[in-house]
Amino acid sequence: MTKTVVIGSGFGGLALAIRLQAAGVPTLLLEQRDKPGGRAYVYEDQGFTFDAGPTVITDPSAIEELFTLAGKNIADYVDLLPVTPFYRLCWENGQVFNYDNDQASLEAQIARFNPRDVEGYRQFLAYSQAVFKEGYLKLGAVPFLSFRDMLRAGPQLARLQAWRSVYGMVSKFIQDDHLRQAFSFHSLLVGGNPFATSSIYTLIHALERQWGVWFARGGTGALVQGLVKLFTDLGGEIELNAKVTRLDTQGDKISGVTLADGRHIPARAVASNADVVHTYSHLLGHHPRGVAQAASLRRKRMSNSLFVLYFGLNHHHSQLAHHTVCFGPRYKELIEDIFKRDSLADDFSLYLHAPCVTDPSLAPPGCGSYYVLAPVPHLGTANLNWDVEGPRLRDRIFDYLEQHYMPGLRDQLVTHRMFTPFDFRDQLGAYHGSAFSVEPILTQSAWFRPHNRDGRIDNLYLVGAGTHPGAGIPGVIGSAKATAGLMLEGHA
Ligand SMILES: Cc1cc2nc3c(=O)[nH]c(=O)nc-3n(C[C@H](O)[C@H](O)[C@H](O)COP(=O)(O)OP(=O)(O)OC[C@H]3O[C@@H](n4cnc5c(N)ncnc54)[C@H](O)[C@@H]3O)c2cc1C
Repeated sequence: MTKTVVIGSGFGGLALAIRLQAAGVPTLLLEQRDKPGGRAYVYEDQGFTFDAGPTVITDPSAIEELFTLAGKNIADYVDLLPVTPFYRLCWENGQVFNYDNDQASLEAQIARFNPRDVEGYRQFLAYSQAVFKEGYLKLGAVPFLSFRDMLRAGPQLARLQAWRSVYGMVSKFIQDDHLRQAFSFHSLLVGGNPFATSSIYTLIHALERQWGVWFARGGTGALVQGLVKLFTDLGGEIELNAKVTRLDTQGDKISGVTLADGRHIPARAVASNADVVHTYSHLLGHHPRGVAQAASLRRKRMSNSLFVLYFGLNHHHSQLAHHTVCFGPRYKELIEDIFKRDSLADDFSLYLHAPCVTDPSLAPPGCGSYYVLAPVPHLGTANLNWDVEGPRLRDRIFDYLEQHYMPGLRDQLVTHRMFTPFDFRDQLGAYHGSAFSVEPILTQSAWFRPHNRDGRIDNLYLVGAGTHPGAGIPGVIGSAKATAGLMLEGHA
């Protein structure tokens, strides 16, 4: 029987493949790399396990839904552990904010920064919860295929002042400079500049308060494995080391895919979880639709890239929280540099991942696995030679961590590896090496984002960070729900 093909096994591709297979659609998942997960790849080295990408699991209900719709119990596949605090936020002047889900603790900490911000925070939370209801619960998994869909959402977006930026909205409620950072940095987790991204993205705060922050026992890779097992238990087929090089067409229909090894696989429909620019320019570059869409997508603004440094130490730094945000000396100016400047800034802000705090099995006894990331410009903003810049930035970051957060780091170092914008480009096919695909600004969101179904080739679908609603695990799992709804309509 001719199968439906999903290209790419990121969280979006996996979630879509599960939904299709669970609905009785025979599905083949093709992944170019040797392991599934996409940005959630896993490196293993000398007993250390490093999750390459996502570490903050929010909205576990969206993940659980994939198991329940398949008639399975999530607990038989993966163990999700709560993380507290959600994040520890640190500044260079010694201020620390343990951002958690306890209203009393949050208010007591806010009062230490600025007593007047306690009431402002309550108002911000109420706003964020209203946006969460409209933007996430109602629209997060609904496809925007026509401008009419956008117009229908218009009044709510206007009422919620979606034209304001995340930072602008936070500043309306909160006065303290560091608290403004604490409640606005979240959009960076999905590639959004807090000074340019729509205030709709403040919903991330309510989402975290609603369901908490979680970590899979064994790491995010264990969650990927759980989803792959669910898919194959349902009868789905996954092939690794299977790079798709071409979407085969007959007129305005996809007839199948061609792989790098020359094989042709016929397909009833194809959904691409690959980068959206790559999908149209490389895979469909031989068709007028591909040429036109690629040209239009290249004009869109892409999210920033990341420099990620994975390292294993022969020491467990028990003073660290699982997730730490290390704010550097500048906030707005640094973010401007990341999104607009054609060179690297002299300073940085970092996210530090210390998973052994929650799950010591990710390193040999007494040791610790870590990763640290710095947001950096993508290659279209700053065309840097990362073969040179990478080692330099690595050394600066190690020095900084040793001085401020992890004494003795250099002597404790057992192993390390880097992932630069070059790797996002070359290993994941990401346009300009963007870490989060199309930038989530209002004029590139919902209907303005690449649609979940192509507008001309009606058996070609998109899923993942480049389509609606956008990046982040909850976002791409929501995109899978939106895309599956359309594909299953077409399948009936
Ligand atoms: C370092 C980092 C940290 C992050 N942290 C978090 C976090 O803590 N929480 C959170 O929610 N989100 C986080 N994110 C964002 C989140 O990881 C991504 O938005 C999400 O995982 C992207 O999923 P996706 O479905 O778009 O697919 P991707 O992960 O982009 O996967 C796409 C897959 O398609 C494959 N592919 C591409 N082209 C082809 C081809 N031609 N043939 C076959 N296969 C192909 C690729 O190899 C890849 O496996 C993070 C991202 C990064 C990079």
